[in-house]
Amino acid sequence: MAEALEALLREGRTFPPPEDFRRDALVTEASVYDEAEADWQGHWARQALALDWFREWHTILEWDLPFAKWFVGGRLNVAHNCLDRHVQAGHGDQVAFHWEGEPGDTRTITYRELLEESSRLANVLKDLGVRKGDRVAIYMGMVPELPAALLACARIGAPHSVVFGGFTAQSLRDRILDAEAKVLITADGAWRRGSVVRLKDIADEAIAQTPSIEHVLVLRRTGTEISMREGRDHWWHDLVGSASPECPPEEMDSEDLLFILYTSGTTGKPKGIMHTTGGYLTQVAYTHRYVFDLDPDRDVYWCTADIGWVTGHSYIVYGPLANRATSVLYEGTPDHPDKDRFWEIVERYGVTVFYTAPTAIRTFMKWGDSYPAKHDLSSLRVIGTVGEPINPEAWVWYYKVIGGERCPVVDTWWQTETGAIMISPLPGATTLKPGSATFPLPGIAADVVDGDGRPAGIPGGGYLVLTRPWPSMLRGIWGDPQRYRDTYWGRFGDKYFAGDGAKRDEDGYFWLLGRVDDIMLVSGHNISTTEVESALVDHPAVAEAAVVGRTDETTGQAVAAFVILRGGVEPTDALVEELRDHVAKLIGPIAKPRSILFTEELPKTRSGKIMRRLLRDVAEDQALGDTTTLADPAVVDGIKARYLAQQPAED
Ligand code: ATP
Ligand code: MG
Repeated sequence: MAEALEALLREGRTFPPPEDFRRDALVTEASVYDEAEADWQGHWARQALALDWFREWHTILEWDLPFAKWFVGGRLNVAHNCLDRHVQAGHGDQVAFHWEGEPGDTRTITYRELLEESSRLANVLKDLGVRKGDRVAIYMGMVPELPAALLACARIGAPHSVVFGGFTAQSLRDRILDAEAKVLITADGAWRRGSVVRLKDIADEAIAQTPSIEHVLVLRRTGTEISMREGRDHWWHDLVGSASPECPPEEMDSEDLLFILYTSGTTGKPKGIMHTTGGYLTQVAYTHRYVFDLDPDRDVYWCTADIGWVTGHSYIVYGPLANRATSVLYEGTPDHPDKDRFWEIVERYGVTVFYTAPTAIRTFMKWGDSYPAKHDLSSLRVIGTVGEPINPEAWVWYYKVIGGERCPVVDTWWQTETGAIMISPLPGATTLKPGSATFPLPGIAADVVDGDGRPAGIPGGGYLVLTRPWPSMLRGIWGDPQRYRDTYWGRFGDKYFAGDGAKRDEDGYFWLLGRVDDIMLVSGHNISTTEVESALVDHPAVAEAAVVGRTDETTGQAVAAFVILRGGVEPTDALVEELRDHVAKLIGPIAKPRSILFTEELPKTRSGKIMRRLLRDVAEDQALGDTTTLADPAVVDGIKARYLAQQPAED
């Protein structure tokens, strides 16, 4: 990285919206915040009016803490808003998805084609006995039929439960059982890093133990040999191919259930998060338009998440389609056939808006600048991130190497539970600080409070809370209202507790500090894992770091660090000392890691987030907790063996 830029970062450089960007931006004035604040319910009602309603609501919000109802009495259909109305307005030939298969096959799907395919599928689901309110499980790879499946469910009012195609049979089974899904939509297989994931085999194992499943619809994608059970299993092409492409959208109540989605399980057992219709679509469409400064007639938008996560639900399917965006949909991994695959796609389709995760950005950094350098990325206008705190080092790399020092970086904080982006810059109006998600969006109210729920002030640190309802908020946990109350409302009563630590700086900017269970208490001081990790990654030898607290007799907790070195760097004892000193220099001696273990990999969820609770189990030498949401369970066993063999460095 340019040393000049690094130096600027150290000096706390801020990044106002570039003049060139502002010229065409949707929002350039901070007055939007005050306008929304003056009448925040009216603000959301104005956004809801951007949708097509069969019948308008009579009440914007009914708030019976902790249960919200938005746009009460309103009736609409999500699929109609994402497809039919655009086709009716003459945009049927506009591309909805430029789809890119991992092996290199491509397809272009227009709004009309997506409308017809999802309507056919909707008719098939009805023929298979799916009625409004019945749950449909979906377990597929990233093929165009996947968004079509979500939209087919939305069209007939059958809530979907999408299970990420990388989950095991056990995870799929548990989610089907919990939601009592009636039909499963899957595929023979999916391409992943050059080989086939045998989805139907995994599904067969799962549904051997799920009595609620009556029918299975199977898409042929990989041509893999699979078994089909007569009467239960049906080929997509047999049924959908011959179904009628017309299926009138069901008139849904604003508060009807749109989907259930299980959280990624970074902190514990996944929760079945419920999202409903009118409020959800209002906020995902609004945020997608304003956070990414989207112009449907200009932009080519690409969110690299999987539709199996909330990011894919809200920012591949519902937000972009409601806004009539043209998107890229990519099936595979960023390193197949080579590590420049993403940049090759950006260049080929002229992607203007790019949205990915910090874990991916850190991986690209580790791979080196030569891969993006091979491609013309000058089409990019806005680049975004979501999923974890982004360390300033990775932010600056992203800004410089991918964004060409030209594109605002939108660091978006939100959760499966919030349904849509909550804290984020508005790229034409917000001055950025690397590593800060900046401010709550217009209409959103967030604060940082102390343990008793009192505002921590500016500057100040503590727990991130949301202090009033928002349209796309979760409506509960499927089948477990008590867990809903306990998890989110038990701690502060009238404020939604997000589970994340945060601080506000002297300018009021929000800085996310990781999950509160991850925050360490060393000699009476709260130390954030995120800050220590950022300090470690700031050192040129370090590619990635994870930090946890372990019990210590004298200090209460001691900092234990797990570090991945950049390619070619030798893991020496001298380097351990150097890294400890580096942290002491940047944060203070109190944050100095007691031990540092060099490792090749870190335990991550299937969505790529570091699972610190398992590293804590390792550091505390206790039995490992639930590992079912872990991408590769072998990683943590390897770390454990080496951690126990190593003598931790002592002061
Ligand atoms: P579970 O709730 O099951 O333990 P999870 O919290 O990882 O899993 P998600 O809903 O996918 O499941 O992730 C939301 C969390 O991701 C947030 O609570 C926060 O910790 C983190 N996060 C998301 N975006 C950001 C961001 N921009 N900055 C900092 N943290 C973020
Ligand atoms: Mg969570």
